[in-house]
Amino acid sequence: MLVDSSLDEVKKRENSFKIIRDIIKNQGRASLYDLTGLSGGFIASSKDLNLLETYVGPAIFEEELDRLGKEHLGGEKTLAVNRTSSGILATILTLLKNDSYLIHFLPEFPSHPSILRSVEIVKGKYLEFNNLDDFYLMENASLLVITGSTMDHKVLDEETFKKLIAMAHEKNIPVFVDDASGARLRTIIYNQKRATDLGADLVVTSTDKLMPGPRGGLMAGKLDLINKIKVTANKFGLEAQPPSILAMVNGFKSFNKQTLLDAVNKKEVLMKLLNSYCMFEETATGVMVPKEALQDEINKYLDSPLNKELSSSDLCFIWASLLLKEKGIITIPAVSMVGASATVRFDLSSKDAMNLDMKILYEKIDESFKELLNVIMNLEKSKFLLYGV
Ligand SMILES: *Cc1c(COP(=O)(O)O)cnc(C)c1O
Repeated sequence: MLVDSSLDEVKKRENSFKIIRDIIKNQGRASLYDLTGLSGGFIASSKDLNLLETYVGPAIFEEELDRLGKEHLGGEKTLAVNRTSSGILATILTLLKNDSYLIHFLPEFPSHPSILRSVEIVKGKYLEFNNLDDFYLMENASLLVITGSTMDHKVLDEETFKKLIAMAHEKNIPVFVDDASGARLRTIIYNQKRATDLGADLVVTSTDKLMPGPRGGLMAGKLDLINKIKVTANKFGLEAQPPSILAMVNGFKSFNKQTLLDAVNKKEVLMKLLNSYCMFEETATGVMVPKEALQDEINKYLDSPLNKELSSSDLCFIWASLLLKEKGIITIPAVSMVGASATVRFDLSSKDAMNLDMKILYEKIDESFKELLNVIMNLEKSKFLLYGV
């Protein structure tokens, strides 16, 4: 494996940032297409920014965020956190009892790594399910986490959602929904109810997934639970800071459902253009290639076997680097945080997709895949693409 540790992932990310800097310096921002679906946006007027310098700003923005956040997520109170992962950690630190189980249900594996990592910190026990027939809640379970939409945008159906919540509540187990992208995907594209309206006690969403906000998390839910989690978040510095809260407020104000709905149409056009490939799967607002599918597609074209050092994740990482370096397309595997999914996903609700013709995007994808077939024949070239050395 070329990318074999968390440190490798950090180095890969640093190299991608260098490539991004070079493209911006030599060709300009317009030559980059961020199709991650994570905007990291920071919308703020100079009036907003001036307010930030006093104590008045945070007082105003926090109240505004609570109002907008409750509109978006429901619930009695909200809590802004540094990242979705921070909200997950704060919740697990607060609610998972010693030696008890956190049960996690998600529509498809793999889980987001922050959940298991947080359970390990409190020395709790962990069990995950992706199938309702196998699912059960043991006596010493103290928290049910439901992922509404996975990292790869696989969405849980509403019937299963309701059954899971009912089963947990029958045993007085609180339900926490990880709706990082789901808070928007599920409700807008799939017409599902908000997690709190389905009966969940707590929910967290990511303020930069499929909306123009900053990297951050917003939690909502029952007043007493949010208050307890807020205390934990404050103790460990997991809460969002005033500049993020300001950008969250403006992110929610600028959020437009239509952008997501338009992405569905674009996806249909792009899927047709890509029909000579078997590896592409539709997501709600784009297309994606899981690592196994990429490996299978590559195997069809190769005359000689692939170097055993290359894992299927490596293939995704190398392709993502090529897409970035040669075509200016940013996808998650090039820039992701440690442990994120290797799936190469093109999100068409991204701001940069608005001015991108699908025919041109198709050509960029097609050419870079052909280039990938060459590069992976040479381990040194592959390493250079990943790490720049
Ligand atoms: C993105 C994501 C997270 C983590 O978000 P961060 O901002 O990286 O902390 C957690 N769970 C799911 C399902 C996600 O998609």
